[in-house]
Amino acid sequence: MSKLSFVSPTRNSPWGTYLSQIDAVEPYLGPLARWVETLRRPKRILIVDVPIELDNGTVAHYEGYRVQHSLTRGPGKGGVRYHPDVTLEEVMALAAWMTIKNAAMNLPFGGAKGGIRLEPKALSLKELEKVTRRYTSEIGIVIGPQQDIPAPDVNTNGQIMAWMMDTYSMNTGSTATGVVTGKPIPLGGSLGRVAATGRGVFVIGREAMRRLGLPMDGARVAVQGFGNVGSVAAKLFAHAGARIVAVQDHSGTILNEAGLDMADLLQHLASSGGVGGFAGADTLADEDFWKVKTDVLIPAALEGQITAARALGLQTKLVLEGANGPTTPDGDAVLADRGITVVPDVIANAGGVTVSYFEWVQDFSSFFWTEDEINVRLDKIIIGAFKHICDTAEQHQIPLRTAAFVVACSRVLQARQERGLYP
Ligand code: GLU
Repeated sequence: MSKLSFVSPTRNSPWGTYLSQIDAVEPYLGPLARWVETLRRPKRILIVDVPIELDNGTVAHYEGYRVQHSLTRGPGKGGVRYHPDVTLEEVMALAAWMTIKNAAMNLPFGGAKGGIRLEPKALSLKELEKVTRRYTSEIGIVIGPQQDIPAPDVNTNGQIMAWMMDTYSMNTGSTATGVVTGKPIPLGGSLGRVAATGRGVFVIGREAMRRLGLPMDGARVAVQGFGNVGSVAAKLFAHAGARIVAVQDHSGTILNEAGLDMADLLQHLASSGGVGGFAGADTLADEDFWKVKTDVLIPAALEGQITAARALGLQTKLVLEGANGPTTPDGDAVLADRGITVVPDVIANAGGVTVSYFEWVQDFSSFFWTEDEINVRLDKIIIGAFKHICDTAEQHQIPLRTAAFVVACSRVLQARQERGLYP
């Protein structure tokens, strides 16, 4: 089978990582393996130029993407990321992981992702609005409430979703609340959506700890990334009795063996924009974060963090992937060898897209649920999916990641087969 001509993935790059995960699942797909090549190719890729006039009067151009990896089981679904390192190859992998995540949770969506290569911190609010509106307009030919539904991801939030919803609505002459999720509540957002990803990390973490016989009370937890995912998960773990002993973000690495005071740390974060310099902790060299002795390690930042070298030094029992793609294939192999359990991204961080699904359903029915209803339904879906994946892992004696791929890929390829090949 010919390789894609427009990317050159290496083994541990995001798309290379995803491809090796597909290779690992192939032997478990039975007759459905006939269709597996579908998963190695995004269905559709859109690359857009995003020009805006900056506050100083000059014109800047940014490169934007929207990749629809699969539309087999429903509309595309997945976030939009603003980051200076965004590439087409990365967005392809993130879109593919959405296909797997949505199918693993049995949500009626395909998988998609978008991104713009830019440093959001370098833009004013007005410039950020312009770039968001122009990007939305450019990808307007492929998104829509029934086509593909963006959401927040790294460096995007409810405000950006509000601008996206407004731009799409102005262009279509409608009020299309269902075109994006993760919106502010007055625009058809859902209660519980902001905390949902971190909450899912905690709920799945608690289940995994129970299965491993790890007590929550006093458990040592380290978190990389203290944004919307890491900070919410850390707060919930601390509330349940665990100790957050180390946190790392762009501003530095902090350690407190007795457990960081979450309320004080969140206050420090709000005032300084990072965890670095927090008075209630010692400062650690960044690389030493990976050597802190823990029961649970939560990478909740970017891809490619747990390499083979770092995996060799980890002193933890459970890796809970809050980020997408934080473990490289070489890192994964080391963790498997060392008997360290990994709960993969496509389960551990699926709480966000699950509540995005609820938001989309609520927008269509114009009938909104209480936060309690959201959380009860969220827990039911993710805990049920996790149990099914644990059973699959047990049955085939395979790691949880491969088991999640078995469940998800079987669903996607079954649908693929039943729809048939057009023409
Ligand atoms: N960006 C989140 C993720 O990676 C959420 C996507 C969504 O809600 O559509 O799962």
